Amino acid sequence: MDASPAATLSAVWPMGAERTPDGALRVAGHDLRDVAAQYGTPAYLLDEADIRTRARAFKEAFTEAFGAIGTQADVFYAGKAFLCTPMARLLLDEGLSLDVCTGGELAVARKAGFPGDRIGMHGNNKSVAEIEDAITYGVGRLIVDSFEEIERVAHVAAAHGVVQGVMLRVKTGVEAHTHEFIATAHEDQKFGFSLADGQLMDAVGRILEHPDSLRLLGFHSHIGSQIFESEGFAVAAERLINVQLQVAREHGIVLPELDLGGGFGIAYTDRDTPLSAPQMAGQLAQIVQRACDAVGHPVPHISIEPGRAIVGPSGVTLYEVGTVKPVQVRDELTRYYVSVDGGMSDNPRPALYEADYTAQLAGRASEAAPVTARVVGKHCESGDIVVRDVQLPGDVRAGDLLAVPATGAYCRSLSSQYNHVPRPPVIALRDGGSSVWIRRETIGDLLALEGRNERANCPVGLRRGRFGGCEAADGALR
Ligand SMILES: *Cc1c(COP(=O)(O)O)cnc(C)c1O
Repeated sequence: MDASPAATLSAVWPMGAERTPDGALRVAGHDLRDVAAQYGTPAYLLDEADIRTRARAFKEAFTEAFGAIGTQADVFYAGKAFLCTPMARLLLDEGLSLDVCTGGELAVARKAGFPGDRIGMHGNNKSVAEIEDAITYGVGRLIVDSFEEIERVAHVAAAHGVVQGVMLRVKTGVEAHTHEFIATAHEDQKFGFSLADGQLMDAVGRILEHPDSLRLLGFHSHIGSQIFESEGFAVAAERLINVQLQVAREHGIVLPELDLGGGFGIAYTDRDTPLSAPQMAGQLAQIVQRACDAVGHPVPHISIEPGRAIVGPSGVTLYEVGTVKPVQVRDELTRYYVSVDGGMSDNPRPALYEADYTAQLAGRASEAAPVTARVVGKHCESGDIVVRDVQLPGDVRAGDLLAVPATGAYCRSLSSQYNHVPRPPVIALRDGGSSVWIRRETIGDLLALEGRNERANCPVGLRRGRFGGCEAADGALR
C-alpha cells in the first residue's frame, strides 16, 4: 500500500482539505466517501471551522486596521450569500453583524435570536410589512433606497414611536468587477440615490424633516462583487466622504457611519488570486484615512459587508457521476461530458454569470491520463453546466464521486427546484462530527405545495405568518 502522507489541496478548497493516501478527498477530517454514504448525493458540504476562521479573520483584520486609524469597523455578513439558523448563530458567536434584505432573511435571523441592533436591512423595494417587521424587531439600520421608502419608514417608525436608524444607499458611479472598475458609468441601475443632480442631498433633506422618527447614520455603497483590488473602493469612499462633508457644511451634522459594502473576491479556480482579509483591511483603512484627511473630515465608524469571502471557500458540492459521453468537438479535441446528479438547480452561477469552477474526483485517485471534460447537470438545458472546462482523469466513469469547491456562497441561496429536482441538503462538517443544517428536500415537499389552503398547514393554535411560517398570536415564530 502507498504509505505517502495525505496531500494538501490548493487554496480553492477549504483549509486543510486533503487527498488521503488511498486517493479520496477529505474535508474537515471527513472522507467524502463516508459523507456520500451517510448523506447521499448531491450534497452541499460546509467546513464549519473554515467559515469560523474566515469570519474571525475579517473581524480581527478590520478591527485592527481601523483601530489603527482611530475608529472602529463592524463586519456585517451579507446573508444573501448563504443563510440558515445555524449559520446565523455561528456569525453571532464570532462577533459579526448581519445584513438581510427581505422579510424571509429577517425571519431566519429572528429564529436564530440574532439581536436586532446588529442587523442591517437592505433592499430596493422592501414592503411596508417588511419595514414594519424590521422596526418592531429593533433592526439597527435600514438602508433606505428610494424617496418612497423614506416616507414609508418614517410613517411606520412614527406609528411605533421609534426613532429608526437609517443609511442612504448611494450610487457612487463606481462599479467594480474582478480586476476592472468603472468610475463614471452605472447610473443606469436600480439601486440607490444618485450623486448627480443633487438627488442624494434631497434625500438627506427629506430624512432630516423627520427628526422624531428617522436618524440618519450615514451613507452606504456597494460597488460590486468578486473584487480583487481596492481602487474601486477608494473612488467610492472619496465620493461618499465628500458628501458627508457637504452634509456637515449644509446641515451642521457629522454623520457617524460609513458603509463600504462587500464584494471581496475569492478563488473559484487557481487563476484567481484574492487579497487576504488583513491586506484588504489595511488598504481600505488607508483609503478612508486619506479621503478624510484630504478634506478634514473626522474618520467615521466603518462597516463592511462581505458575504462570498466568508462562506464561499468553505463549501464543496459533492455529486455522483451518472454518465460520461465523449464528444468529438474537433479533430484534435474530444470533450468528455460528465453528467452529475445535480446541476443548474443547485448551482446556477455558471449559467447566470458564466462563472468558472473546478472539480476533482472525490472517491479515488487515478493514474489515467487527463482528458478535457465538461461537468454538466441533469436538467433539460444545454446551458446546464457546472464546470465548463476541467481536466479529469480519462477513466472518469459512472459511480465516481465528484467534488466542486468554492460553492459555499450563492449556490444554495440561488438554488431552484427546476425540473422538480429536490434541492440538496447542507451538511456542516467539523472535526469529529457533522450535522444537517438544512435537510434534503423531497419530492413530497414539492408536491405538498400544490393547491392546499396555506392556513390548513399550521397546527391548531398557530396562524400563518406573514413570511410563510406558523406563528403564535404573540408573533413568535414556530
Ligand atoms: C451582495 C451584497 C453584498 C455581499 O456581496 P459579496 O460579493 O457576497 O461580498 C454586500 N452588500 C450588499 C448591499 C449586497 O447587495
